[in-house]
Amino acid sequence: MRLSELNTGDKAYIIKVQGHGGFRKRIVEMGFIKGQRVEVLQCAPLQDPVKYKVMGYEVSLRRQEAEKIEVSTDERDADNEHEPQNISTAAHFREHSARHTINVALVGNPNCGKTSLFNFASGAHERVGNYSGVTVDAKEGFTDFEGYHIKLVDLPGTYSLSAYSPEELYVRRQLVDDTPDVVINVLDASNIERNLYLTTQLMDMHLRVVCALNMFDELEERGDKLNIDTLSSLMGMPMVPTSFKSGRGLQELMREVIHLFESREGHDQYYRHIHINHGHEIEDGISNIQHYLKGNDLLRLRYSTRWLAIKLLENDKEAWRVADELPEAQQIREACVLANRRVKEETGDDSETAIMDAKYGYIHGALHEAGYVIGKKNDTYKTTHWLDAVITHRWLGFPIFFLLLWLMFEVTFTLGQYPMDWIQAGVDWLADVVSRQMPDGPLKAMLADGIIGGVGAVIVFLPQILILYTFISLMEDSGYMARAAFIMDKLMHGMGLHGKSFIPLIMGFGCNVPAVMATRTVESRRARLITMLVLPMMSCSARLPIYIMITGAFFAVQYQSLVMIALYAIGIILSVVVARVLSKWVIKGEDTPFVMELPPYRFPTAKAIFRHTWEKGKQYLKKMGGVILVASVIVWALGYFGTMGVAPSLEESFIGQLGKAIEPLFLPQGFNWRLDVSLIAGVGAKEIVASTIGVLYTGPYDFTPLTAFCFLLFVLIYFPCIATIVAIRHESGSWRWALFAAAYTTVLAWLISAIVYQVGTLVM
Ligand code: GDP
Ligand code: MG
Repeated sequence: MRLSELNTGDKAYIIKVQGHGGFRKRIVEMGFIKGQRVEVLQCAPLQDPVKYKVMGYEVSLRRQEAEKIEVSTDERDADNEHEPQNISTAAHFREHSARHTINVALVGNPNCGKTSLFNFASGAHERVGNYSGVTVDAKEGFTDFEGYHIKLVDLPGTYSLSAYSPEELYVRRQLVDDTPDVVINVLDASNIERNLYLTTQLMDMHLRVVCALNMFDELEERGDKLNIDTLSSLMGMPMVPTSFKSGRGLQELMREVIHLFESREGHDQYYRHIHINHGHEIEDGISNIQHYLKGNDLLRLRYSTRWLAIKLLENDKEAWRVADELPEAQQIREACVLANRRVKEETGDDSETAIMDAKYGYIHGALHEAGYVIGKKNDTYKTTHWLDAVITHRWLGFPIFFLLLWLMFEVTFTLGQYPMDWIQAGVDWLADVVSRQMPDGPLKAMLADGIIGGVGAVIVFLPQILILYTFISLMEDSGYMARAAFIMDKLMHGMGLHGKSFIPLIMGFGCNVPAVMATRTVESRRARLITMLVLPMMSCSARLPIYIMITGAFFAVQYQSLVMIALYAIGIILSVVVARVLSKWVIKGEDTPFVMELPPYRFPTAKAIFRHTWEKGKQYLKKMGGVILVASVIVWALGYFGTMGVAPSLEESFIGQLGKAIEPLFLPQGFNWRLDVSLIAGVGAKEIVASTIGVLYTGPYDFTPLTAFCFLLFVLIYFPCIATIVAIRHESGSWRWALFAAAYTTVLAWLISAIVYQVGTLVM
């Protein structure tokens, strides 16, 4: 009986909640848990919604929701004790079987052995055959197992759940409208890559799924290797090897069905709801569409909105029929058109293909991680597998990777030098014009020393930054970055991170801000947080101007690049140490396994590369026009004016006084007040350290190479920049972690530079 059938004052016990996982989760969170007593308190005037009392709380449900909750008035269905599975229970369940009935649907590709499973389990003799089913119907049977009455429905075979063929549509309607308690996804394990495609669609639908890895005999005979446990936890569903030629694995399979039926999502390592990451543009589209879908309660009740959004993007007719009924249909269409256009620009494909590619990428990655190796037989994904065998090879993988990294930095700095020189010439020319054409006075000083000096010192790095971003975009879009993350996975795990953390870390060499945003792709919250917090150790390109400026002045030519490399290396080493410390003592949490997607290799389209590079470069330009411009003017003004108006010398200006005031703080590092001031100014953006030094030093430098090196160390490690801190606040969801990042980096910088300076002076 349904909860909706009760009258005011009635009491009953909850037997089960039907519907897709998202709905069930919400209802369960309200307290409608199996075995709980529920009482009808009162109906609203129009019979809807109805107020219930459950677990001591008053909750109101709509009629449609109450219809999905199965209840019994029999007190023995209360969950007050765990009755032993003895004869009296068995008798009880025969009488009141409702509580122990599990509705199971068999879903799988044609010829994977669904009917064989059905026959073995139910003792039926349905026709088994090596042909695609043409009849679109479902056979029903049942089996009694360990006190449960398991109803089985043998559905027609399908390769996917789009709405192309009548079989697919039929299976889909069965899954949506009849929402089975548990789905058994039967897979032909000897063809697992293709068979898992359907599984990924079941994941989207948010159903409770057990996989039967059928034809396991063939897989073994062929000598394939596969770690089933790993695959299960990566896909978020239990998997059981079976063979329905002999009936092997049937009992384990049924046990898993019961286990799944009784357990709650997320409380079991093999039972998790996983969102497959379909890539930036598609995911944006999904959440835009979901936004409109979620406003509709009736819809939410029936469908997982994520699934429906994906179907809409796939331009699924059936899904559109549903969406067109909604008042927001127009907005949804617009969101779809936008997503489709962006996907087209990025990949050259339509969304449907892009979604399919992403799913296969997910499958490929999961299988790769589960150590899947095909014995002897031809291979359907030959080129990709072959390329991956080389690129992720145990010995070749790292050399290839480091070669590419080296190439990236080499090209960035050598090729970038040319446009850099041009821009430098332009800046010089502009400064020259200003100083010759304008009358002396504060305005000229501000323009020449403040704006042109400050912004100019930084804008010259734009070409190098664009080149770096082009490389990063190329690596991302071609699919190589995913492989790089893959081979780094083990190392990353040692740091308490995830392989996917690697991509943001590399991007951090460009700019920490987009890198912090890129941590979104790391599913595990713990790994994501640690990645964000160590990211500032990745020496971003904004620090480069300072390095070049200082090393150029203090170190002989042959040592200059050594100093630079040392700085980058120190940053990396520190990030490893900090990550380990954080993961060990500070940020707790379980490491849940997640798939590293291995999308198919692709030649990136020029348009996509251009756009991705530009999107990143735009942020840099915005920083120029914003923070850096303002900071340059402020630094200039503080240096130009003093307590008595225009300051006669820098030392008597505001900035001079400020520097003098904080000088004791940096005595252990041997920094003078000019350096102190530039460090404070650099809080806005690290380029400002360079521009400030540019403004403050017109003559030669007055400190030692040791101080210079310690200063560079400090610049490397301390407070990243305001924009990065704000990004961390945004991505971590709290100021706490943002402030933590700000504090620990500054303290660490102070300590390390002090130690190096003190030890350095002793030694020399
Ligand atoms: P359905 O289309 O999914 O219902 O698949 P069937 O149950 O009709 O099976 C298709 C073919 O695969 C039949 O010839 C079965 O005998 C065979 N088959 C089913 N399960 C297994 C298995 O585990 N191992 C092997 N080798 N063959 C199987
Ligand atoms: Mg069949």
